[in-house]
Amino acid sequence: MVIKNLEKKFDTIVIGLGAMGSSTLYQLAKNKKSVLGIEQSNIPNSIGSSHGINRIIRLAYSEHPAYVPLLRRAYELWYDLEKVSNEKILYKTGSLDISEENHWVFSGSLSSCLEHKIPHKVLNSSEISKKFPAYNFPHNYKGLFQKDGGFLLSEKVIENYTKLAVAHKAKVSSNEKVINWEVNNGEVSVVTNKSIYKSNSLVITTGSWINKLVPELLNLAVPERQVLGWFKTKNDSKFKNNFPVFSCSVDEGRFYGFPIHEIEGFKIGKYNHLNEIANPDNQNTSLSKQDEHVLRSAISRYFPEANGKLLQYQTCMFTNTPDENFIIDQHPNFSQVFLAGGFSGHGFKFSSVVGEIISEMLINSKFPKELEFLRLSRFNLASKI
Ligand SMILES: Cc1cc2nc3c(=O)[nH]c(=O)nc-3n(C[C@H](O)[C@H](O)[C@H](O)COP(=O)(O)OP(=O)(O)OC[C@H]3O[C@@H](n4cnc5c(N)ncnc54)[C@H](O)[C@@H]3O)c2cc1C
Repeated sequence: MVIKNLEKKFDTIVIGLGAMGSSTLYQLAKNKKSVLGIEQSNIPNSIGSSHGINRIIRLAYSEHPAYVPLLRRAYELWYDLEKVSNEKILYKTGSLDISEENHWVFSGSLSSCLEHKIPHKVLNSSEISKKFPAYNFPHNYKGLFQKDGGFLLSEKVIENYTKLAVAHKAKVSSNEKVINWEVNNGEVSVVTNKSIYKSNSLVITTGSWINKLVPELLNLAVPERQVLGWFKTKNDSKFKNNFPVFSCSVDEGRFYGFPIHEIEGFKIGKYNHLNEIANPDNQNTSLSKQDEHVLRSAISRYFPEANGKLLQYQTCMFTNTPDENFIIDQHPNFSQVFLAGGFSGHGFKFSSVVGEIISEMLINSKFPKELEFLRLSRFNLASKI
């Protein structure tokens, strides 16, 4: 979409309309702010972190119990999105967090359920296989089943939030790249490959590119190459209807996966894949034998009926922080600039609530106390600049 009224100064400009940016744009537009969203590619696209059809959502949260209140609000906002867009976005399949009993994947998930009184079931490996026959974990593994887990249609989310933002009078420009931004006398200027825009405030949600526009984050938000594979199964029905999403930690590493949905084949990925740093402007999108081997190593042992032909793959990027917790904060030097980045391998499910948080930070200058653990002050920024 071409913005005609370039003279206009916006309340807020949002750079990057992926998961976090599209949701932020929607929340601000809904709150009657004049907003411009700028995206370097298509909306949605497959060059960032949100493609590949779907993303897991879990209420039991191994990573840290502090995320649970955020997740509760995220779920409410996902239901709202389904209502206002009139589309199914969230599929509840239940979730399984599987590992040895003392590993944080299982024990963290259990702690989050106990601390937040989340209904759950603990299953041993034979109970897992009995209930969900596609699963085949060794006897020393435990699984935490939580019924609210499932997946979100990630590309549909971005498409719908952007459409709804436009319906609330947001301006959107795709295929326009932001080259630079600055703040002069309290006014923000955003320079793109096509134009210059002005605003009172700025939100930077550029995913794996965030450290290019915010060099202070160079070592704090680091892009990493990931690979997703879809594998042919011997019995699709076992991988379709009675198949919870999972996150597991096994000898071969930490993996996650989904029931068959829309695309043929069982979808699986390994967290941090080959630990390869990515350059977002020059991504390696080809598939090596090693990439496939990594995924098969888990399939052959734990989901042996899905060890068929690789039907499709996609590459994608995590943007990792040192502690894998997100960065949601004001810019260290400019109070009118807000940053949401470093969502590591687990941010998508929160995108609905991240948009609301940023919008509230901007409109009411309110930063929720319980989100202190996501602020930049937890890092020694001075030494990174
Ligand atoms: C393979 C894979 C699996 C994952 N699985 C899960 C999961 O199951 N559950 C979960 O919760 N999370 C998961 N994640 C993490 C989650 O997907 C990400 O944390 C989330 O999508 C990040 O959203 P974002 O808005 O920060 O980035 P993006 O959605 O990538 O958006 C950033 C946007 O900014 C644009 N942009 C960048 N630079 C500029 C510029 N200069 N000018 C204009 N536009 C710009 C980009 O083109 C892009 O569209 C996974 C990630 C990957 C890669």
